[in-house]
Amino acid sequence: MMNYTERLTVLMQDVVSRVAALSFIDMSEVLVFARAGRSRAEGAFATCHCLTLPASEPGYYFWRDRSTHALTRRSEWFVTRSPSVTVGPRDIKYMISFALPRFCDQSLDRSRKERFYRGAEPWMAKLDTVVHELYHIDPDLAGIRRIEKEDGTYSANCHGQQFFEQVAEMVHAYLATKPAPEMYEFLRHDFAALNARHGGIVGTSFRTFPSFPQRYIERAAEQPACESDGVGVKVEALRAPQQPTRYSEDDLHVREFCKDTSRRLIRKGQFRAA
Ligand SMILES: [Zn+2]
Repeated sequence: MMNYTERLTVLMQDVVSRVAALSFIDMSEVLVFARAGRSRAEGAFATCHCLTLPASEPGYYFWRDRSTHALTRRSEWFVTRSPSVTVGPRDIKYMISFALPRFCDQSLDRSRKERFYRGAEPWMAKLDTVVHELYHIDPDLAGIRRIEKEDGTYSANCHGQQFFEQVAEMVHAYLATKPAPEMYEFLRHDFAALNARHGGIVGTSFRTFPSFPQRYIERAAEQPACESDGVGVKVEALRAPQQPTRYSEDDLHVREFCKDTSRRLIRKGQFRAA
């Protein structure tokens, strides 16, 4: 079977080694994983997830009475944190997820990127997405890259017009370095063709599939009183996070992705614990 996320990781390694603007990226700190996404359903082809954002300022939820607008209850104070993900000795700083099989069936036709790739083959849309997600990685590793506008201020949107143009320029710059065709050859084929050729498509996912590491809330160590607490506002205890907050390579598994479903792959010779 073909491990699609491994192929994408190798391709990304090649891209960052050839495109100067992305050369700051250390792929051993980036984890590529697969999520489920049907080809004909709406949704992203891929997403860049940042794990380096610091904890938020403390805050709380609150509820008001509908008619009087008076505060009736609030939660305990909490902070929002990024989960920790490690693979071996490495702290993962960013994760890039790909929706399978949707990503494999992406095409330039009628997409808004088509105009950047006049006369190009339809699979170039996939290379564009690969570079797009890498370009979201911030050079200061402090979140998702902010896009500077021509006047020197930052755009509120991480997807300005310039972003798409710059991604297309990097795709062309990468191809101009004449990378080995084996690096990107797998992008030429859609899901059905790859599946038939390789006898299955697998990808790295989290054991918690379809869930994956995401920001979570944690009760703040300090719980200062609020002014309103004295006037009968009920303070509700926070529930403990439902998801793990630390992940390691033991939380990764390999899944086989099919047209409409996916399943955990149990390798030959591997046995299930009771
Ligand atoms: Zn994006």
